This record gives sequence, C-alpha cells and structure tokens, in this order.
Amino acid sequence: MELIDLRSDTVTKPSKAMLDAMMNAKVGDDVFAEDPTVHELENYAASLFGKEAAVFCPSGTMTNQIAIKVHTQPGDEVICDVNSHIYNYEGGGISFNSGVQARLIQGNEGRLTVDMIEPCVNGDFDWLTRTNLVSLENTINRAGGSFYTKEQIAPISTFCKERKLKLHLDGARIFNALAETKDTSLETGSYFDSVSICLSKGLGAPVGSLLLGEKEFIKKARRVRKVFGGGMRQAGILAAAGLYALKNNIERLKEDHVKAKTLEQELKKLNFIESVLPVYSNILIFNLKKEVISGDAFEKKLAAKNIKVSSFGKQTIRFVTHLDYTDAMLDRTVEALRSL
Ligand SMILES: *Cc1c(COP(=O)(O)O)cnc(C)c1O
Repeated sequence: MELIDLRSDTVTKPSKAMLDAMMNAKVGDDVFAEDPTVHELENYAASLFGKEAAVFCPSGTMTNQIAIKVHTQPGDEVICDVNSHIYNYEGGGISFNSGVQARLIQGNEGRLTVDMIEPCVNGDFDWLTRTNLVSLENTINRAGGSFYTKEQIAPISTFCKERKLKLHLDGARIFNALAETKDTSLETGSYFDSVSICLSKGLGAPVGSLLLGEKEFIKKARRVRKVFGGGMRQAGILAAAGLYALKNNIERLKEDHVKAKTLEQELKKLNFIESVLPVYSNILIFNLKKEVISGDAFEKKLAAKNIKVSSFGKQTIRFVTHLDYTDAMLDRTVEALRSL
C-alpha cells in the first residue's frame, strides 16, 4: 500500500519535469555571485513581488532569521503573533541570532491588527526596549492556514511606515493565501520591507526559500547569509527546481485547498472528533474527543493503514494537503477515517 503522507507540505518530491530542469541547469559559484540560474530565480521571484532584489537560501528559517538580523540591533523587540513560526519553530533564533526579544500578541486566528500592535510599540525612552520590527505570517500555520487579505495588511503597513517600524512577511505559504484572496503578489510586496517565500512547501521544490527586498537590504542579507553558513556554491541545480516550482506549481494550489475542505467535511461527520478549526487553505487542525481516542492512538491507527499525520498536541492532529497528495489518496484517507 502506497504511503500517504499528510504530516506536512514539505514532504513532496521533485517531479520528473522538475528533475529534468535541475539536470539541465547552468551553474556557477554563487558565493562569487556567478550562478546564472540562481540569478534568474532571484530576479524572477523579486519581480513577482515588485522588489529590487532577492537572495536564495537553504530554508525559510534562514530567510526569516536573516530578515530579523538585518532589520534590528541587539536589544530590540520584534512584534509578532504568539503562534508565529519565527517565535515557535525557529529554535529561539530571534534571541540566538539577533539578540532580539519578541513582543507576543494573541492575534485573531493568528492575524494582527493595528489596534493590537499600537499599544505594543514602545516610546523613544532610554529605558524602554526599542520596537523596530513587526512580522506577519501569511498563511498562518498554527491557526490552521488562516490568511490576511490586502485590506487587512494595508493599514498595518501604513501604520508601520508612520511609526518607522520595519514590516516583514513570513510568506512560507503566501501563494496559498493569494490563491484564496485573489490579491496579487505585486501588491503584497508593496506592503512589506522584506518578504520570505518558500519553494519547498506547497510549490514542491526539494530545497529553498527566498528573501526579497530592496537592493541595500539584500546586500546586507547576503552578508548575513554567509555568516549563518548559508552561502551555497553551485546552487543553480536547486534554483532550477525553484524556478520550475514558481512557474508551474502556483496555479494548482487551489486543488490542495479543495482536498482539505473535503477532509474537513468528512471529519465533522465522525463521532470521535471534538472540533475542527475552520479550514482556510491546505492545513487542517482538529481535536479528538478525550474519552474516545488519544492523539497518539489516532496517529498509530492511521499509521497501520500507511497514513502518516502530525500530532499537534495531546488531542490535536494536523493534516496538510499538498502536490503529492492525489485524488486516490484522498479517497483512501476518507475510507480509513470512516473505518476507525
Ligand atoms: C515551514 C515554515 C517556515 C520555514 O521553515 P523551513 O523548514 O526552515 O524552511 C517559515 N514559516 C512558516 C510559517 C512555515 O510554515
């Protein structure tokens, strides 16, 4: 029985066409800025978001952490949602890499508003922590793939400009958000000082993220990337996969969302499900009834049917649909859930 992997959209494997693109990539030493395919990818990604430049990195953790490092000084504060990836899942990198602390806000399904941010911005006194950066996530992983619309982002962007705060986007799944809102990447880019996008999530590339921004910012970012150990040599092989992903795998993201919705409908019919977070994109988070089944037991029962899922807490499970999750796999998942 074929493995069904719903743990994350990072589990996708490169397709034949993507591998062909990788095999045929022109390469050079990118630490010397001589890899033509990396340049092509960086320019293409930057142009999608209307930014001047980009830097290709091994991971989204690195692009986020570089952005924080470039935007701040040690002792500064970054404002973010309490469930944000930069705070929860980057190994404490905010303090480890940048000597910066996080000011956490309990957002609305992970979304911040100007009303929430404003009271957290410190005044300019020697004894107060300097607030320098606001970071938004879109879509929002821990909130079940919820997203911001441009109407929600624009006032935050205006506020940050007025208060001279930098605004960063952790857009690991920004294309999932845009698939739902129909907002454009170009307009999205205009609201932020820096944008991080992932190629290895829903877009199906094996490795890679990009940090986008203005020329001066990216110049500094390249230096920090080297310090963090992220300077790569003949990275064009990976960049070719990224280019392929950006050109071929964005339009289809909506299919993953439809599958997640189907699973949501199924889950709601089952008597051992306590609650399902609203499904907005390709992430499905739900709670199991304590008196019926534990998260561990649920995970094991599905594993026995060769279906892998993520535990997201004692009674909480996360499914993520993706490029390699086929219609046949969806049918088999539904069948497996019904049989539990
Ligand atoms: C996956 C993810 C990242 C980056 O993770 P890496 O595994 O380091 O590439 C950043 N932000 C969010 C919201 C993510 O889901």
